[in-house]
Amino acid sequence: MTPYQTTNHFLEQGFALLEMEPRYKALLMTPSRELRVELAIEMDDGSIGNYIGYRVQHDNARGPYKGGLRYHPEVDIDEVRALASLMTWKTALIGVPYGGAKGGIQVDPSQLSPRELERLTRRFTEQIGEFIGPAIDIPAPDMNTNAQVMSWIFDQYSRRYGYSPGVVTGKPVGLHGSLGRDAATGRGCLFAIRETLSARGEQLNKASFVIQGFGNVGSWFARLVHEAGGRVVAVSDVHGGIANPEGLDVPALMRYVAETKRVGGFPGAKDISNAELLTTPCDVLVPAALGHVITAENAGQINARYVLEAANGPCTAQGDAVLNSRGIVCIPDIFANAGGVTVSYFEWVQNTQNLRWTEAEVNQRLEEHMVSAHAAIVKAMEDYGGCSMRAAAFALAVQRVKEATDLRGLG
Ligand code: GLU
Repeated sequence: MTPYQTTNHFLEQGFALLEMEPRYKALLMTPSRELRVELAIEMDDGSIGNYIGYRVQHDNARGPYKGGLRYHPEVDIDEVRALASLMTWKTALIGVPYGGAKGGIQVDPSQLSPRELERLTRRFTEQIGEFIGPAIDIPAPDMNTNAQVMSWIFDQYSRRYGYSPGVVTGKPVGLHGSLGRDAATGRGCLFAIRETLSARGEQLNKASFVIQGFGNVGSWFARLVHEAGGRVVAVSDVHGGIANPEGLDVPALMRYVAETKRVGGFPGAKDISNAELLTTPCDVLVPAALGHVITAENAGQINARYVLEAANGPCTAQGDAVLNSRGIVCIPDIFANAGGVTVSYFEWVQNTQNLRWTEAEVNQRLEEHMVSAHAAIVKAMEDYGGCSMRAAAFALAVQRVKEATDLRGLG
């Protein structure tokens, strides 16, 4: 299955619980608009670089399209479609007034200079400019994009359409960004696992964690879970992983990574491969990198009781089925990593009102959203007679989008 097929497979589980009339299915599955743009830029050596960018706007029944922008060599239309759809269900589930969208540029950003990245980002903003805006579609960071990239989008858009801080979220705190946004996805993941464990009579500070990916989400989660007393026993990045069953010294690891740009070789830990990482014994396995990493081939060897989907779409349909059949609790992406878009919403609200919330206020409101979404999922699991967290989450989200669609009418 492709990523979009996987997303639709999970969506169908929600439809089934809701006994959804077939006439809604195509409407709720199909993206409303797909943009594919050519991005020709001048490279530093005078040659021309040709790239392809996408923006898929999946659904806006509940509010403006919302979702991140990813720079990765494997970006394609199918993946962006899947990720856009996931945003529709994520915003509905977590209760922020947005629809869903996603963008991507097929590029390896590590091969570009900062000036080339800036030109690429500005060209992309030009190409999709008339289709985005603070009340239309609001991009944000995703894999390999960050606050600097958001600043360029804000600037380029504002040059043409006038001052518009609310056109993107995930901006730097020094340029209309929100306190707490950088850590928000990792912090949301922490609340998601804390709630899931405590609903089963377990505690975060007694649990061990294995984290795949040490980018924004993985590294913040590692830091926060370590501060909360959890034991991080293994982590990895694109180059490979490290493990120490006694627990890694995460603050020391953060300093090490800041210097060496990789986790491998960290003193006091054993180097392991990415495949070994996934089967390392722990209570909670946290995929925080690419999609489709937990598959039919490896799900049987996973040595965890919980899988916390910090990444988008880390399980294939078959991988997910194996986890379920083994009684491993999978905390689905549309809930687990919803902290990012939740604080994006807070940033946008602050931008529209020209005010700034304290970090404590941001974190407290984030916690409220995560706790109440978790409670709604638990209730839905009971109502539907013991389904998976994922099926319950999709059913809740689909119900909300369907309701908004019905209320607005098709015109
Ligand atoms: N890229 C993040 C996600 O997948 C954040 C999206 C946003 O803040 O709009 O949820």
